[in-house]
Amino acid sequence: MSNIYERFGVCPIINASGPSTRLSGAIMAPEVAAAMAAASQQCVDIAELQAAACVQIARHTGAEAGYVTSGAAAGLLLATAACVTGLDPSKMNRLPDTKGMKNRVVMARSHRNFYDHAVRSVGIELVEVGIADRYSGAGVRDAEPWEYTAAIDDNTAAVFYVAYAHTQPDLVAVVEVAHAAGVPVIVDAAGQLPPASNLKRFIAEGADLVCFSGGKTIAGPQASGILAGRRHLIEAAALQHLDLDILWEQWSPPAGLINKSNLPGAPHHGIGRPCKVGKEEIVGLLTALELFVAEGDAARFARWLAHMEALVKATGSIDGAVVELRHDPKRAAIPAVHVHLDEDVIGKSALDVVRELQDGSPGIAANPTYHRDGVVAFGPLCLKKGEAELVGQRLRQVLNAV
Ligand SMILES: *Cc1c(COP(=O)(O)O)cnc(C)c1O
Repeated sequence: MSNIYERFGVCPIINASGPSTRLSGAIMAPEVAAAMAAASQQCVDIAELQAAACVQIARHTGAEAGYVTSGAAAGLLLATAACVTGLDPSKMNRLPDTKGMKNRVVMARSHRNFYDHAVRSVGIELVEVGIADRYSGAGVRDAEPWEYTAAIDDNTAAVFYVAYAHTQPDLVAVVEVAHAAGVPVIVDAAGQLPPASNLKRFIAEGADLVCFSGGKTIAGPQASGILAGRRHLIEAAALQHLDLDILWEQWSPPAGLINKSNLPGAPHHGIGRPCKVGKEEIVGLLTALELFVAEGDAARFARWLAHMEALVKATGSIDGAVVELRHDPKRAAIPAVHVHLDEDVIGKSALDVVRELQDGSPGIAANPTYHRDGVVAFGPLCLKKGEAELVGQRLRQVLNAV
């Protein structure tokens, strides 16, 4: 296959780190790319396509309803907007001005991250609870359920929870106190797949809305995501996302997504309109989701592990480096290679090595997350056949082993 990027003078990289937006996301399976190409050749009613997606996402997540977003972050924006406005079109029209609406969102301070811009952009006040003390040595506790209760008041629109394998407190406990106060819980589970069982887990634990990335491990379109949850909240999200440049008399939204008879009128374009989703993304995401579930965690892990084993083999033994294959699915859902450097022997820091790999030709992306511990990390998700060998050879060069 010729390289489309040549036409634009852009050189593809070998991504030995993993899917990240900065590096253009994951690589789609040929079936997904073909589905997107096919979708691009006909026009459809986009709301009807989202209603079909709603059924599929509900089936895979166990939620009442679902929706395709332009990413997990876009899902957070739509989820927050839905919790603030409910099904009131006049409130939808006023966002991000939230005067007179429930406009506080409560979250643990330890869950704060730069993706919560998406939540804040709805015009809410973010209320932080708990002190996640990680430095003084007294930090054995994180935010606790009673602290959420203390922070929730009549103007609380939602509780926002960021799910990682190690997140405290447990979601079930947070849901319990939020629901006791009549407040819905939004879960950011952008990167929490695999295990595939997590598609259902957060909904089963009581979350009202959950967001996943489509462009990470699902390997769907980079600009896609999943929003799953309660029917009326998905309806409120859809109303603030779909293009509503249509006459009321002419408007016949799909009943599976929007119940027109409940509305006093149609809202105008909503706060979610800038994160619109194309038919190609919807069809691509649904196809990728189908493949993700069908492959299963064990087969997927074995496929990923083969890339990491090839990398270990091609790297061989190097003075001043210990090459560790992280291959236990119980410890990490995605296999990885960690190269531990003795920086005195190598004469370079881990960050130097990451930069040399990146600045070579072609550029090789490694994961610098653990560079302070002298570790250069590699992940399998975006490696293509034969690339692990190239990465191993280049690593030997950079580490002076050839
Ligand atoms: C990746 C990520 C996001 C953003 O996901 P997109 O699909 O790129 O919008 C949000 N939250 C967390 C925790 C993430 O890891």
